[in-house]
Amino acid sequence: MSTRYLWCSSILLPTGWAESVLLEMDVDGKLSNIVVGSTEQQKALADEHITGVAVPGMPNLHSHAHQRAMAGLAERSSGEQDNFWSWRSVMYQMLEQIGPDQLYDIARMLYLEMLQAGYTHVAEFQYLHHDRNGNMYDNPAEMTLQCLQAARDVGIGFTALPVLYRYGGFNSLPSTKGQSRFVTGCEDYCLLWHKVAEALKSNEILGIAPHSLRAIDQTLLSEVLKQLEGVHPIHIHIAEQKKEVEDCVDWSGMRPVAWLMEHFEIDHQWCLIHATHLDYAEKIQLGTSGATAGLCPTTEANLGDGLFDMQVSLEQDGRFGIGSDSQISVSVTEELRWMEYGQRLSLHQRNVIADHKKHNGHCGTFLYQKAISGGSAACGFPLEGLAIGATANFVVLDKDHPRMAVDDCDSLLDSWIFSAGDSAISCVYINGRKVINQGQHTAQEEIVNRFQNTLNQLKQN
Ligand SMILES: [Zn+2]
Repeated sequence: MSTRYLWCSSILLPTGWAESVLLEMDVDGKLSNIVVGSTEQQKALADEHITGVAVPGMPNLHSHAHQRAMAGLAERSSGEQDNFWSWRSVMYQMLEQIGPDQLYDIARMLYLEMLQAGYTHVAEFQYLHHDRNGNMYDNPAEMTLQCLQAARDVGIGFTALPVLYRYGGFNSLPSTKGQSRFVTGCEDYCLLWHKVAEALKSNEILGIAPHSLRAIDQTLLSEVLKQLEGVHPIHIHIAEQKKEVEDCVDWSGMRPVAWLMEHFEIDHQWCLIHATHLDYAEKIQLGTSGATAGLCPTTEANLGDGLFDMQVSLEQDGRFGIGSDSQISVSVTEELRWMEYGQRLSLHQRNVIADHKKHNGHCGTFLYQKAISGGSAACGFPLEGLAIGATANFVVLDKDHPRMAVDDCDSLLDSWIFSAGDSAISCVYINGRKVINQGQHTAQEEIVNRFQNTLNQLKQN
């Protein structure tokens, strides 16, 4: 295969909106040149002409693929006061049933949905490692590798985040029976990690994911970071629930983010997932550390977690990105919309996540570019957005959609995020090649059928 060219009438580049752009890609689908304001002669070189509005594909920085199997199935009151912890018990029961083949079918369906919803890369935070009896599979990385294969088969980019999970609670509490499929010590974890590393191709990324302060202790994480020195990105769930903060204070006298910052060197290579319950000093620490806040507004709403304080983050020029986490919703626009709506509901204001100096104050473009930037760092990309050297992963929006009848690209992004939603995505390109065309994948029917059969099987068990 030789060099490939695509021509776009309008595209969002790291430098802003550009018109009549010729993208040149190498054999690996990486951008080798970008010509803005291309001539008719240059346009004629293109293998394909894209007349919608192109935007960089969104990295999904936080996914637990297996939770897709229970999306929407925990919305019935138990008669008690339901909360995150009661949801977690339901989730543990469900995942007892899932083996490698089932995980592949579930992950493939999920990653297809992600592509259709504008995500072009997924960071898979996988903690379901062992078989139903808690024993290692022949290949200890079996479950992460099933997710990797599913990602390859639908064509979405992949960052593997095998999870380090050792304890059942703060102060090195023993793990419970429901956690037996997750648990590893340092040696097992490093073995598993190296098995993932062996399987990866050059365009796939591998980080480390200590599950939470509940599930590790200082000695264990220090040892793993020593054994896998220099590996990043590093993701951890933090301060998702008030009870978790109280338990952390009871154990250590410190709140979770303060404890983490005190005991480990937190920088741009880290991603702190949720970070919804922080005091003011922790918010400043997070904002100035360079770490990404990994926010999953639809999951955080669904689980009754809490709201991230965006105002303090913006004052510190803090990083944030989005993830679909529990998969209750898989939609770039819905995550971004609810990120802004959460702030509006709590502050009784409008257009909170905006910069009046940039994009004429348009919320949509600002939100989108901030989430691209944070998501790129969190997924371990060396570059952000559609820059030369980056992978040509992008989404094409239908500018003729009835909810997108506007004259400029910033207004079009506002309309997409706040009004039109997923139905305005016409095509998705990965490595410069179309994988979603008018909402459909070439293997759509087979993927959906396999997924439905798997769900039926799980229900019968
Ligand atoms: Zn999570």
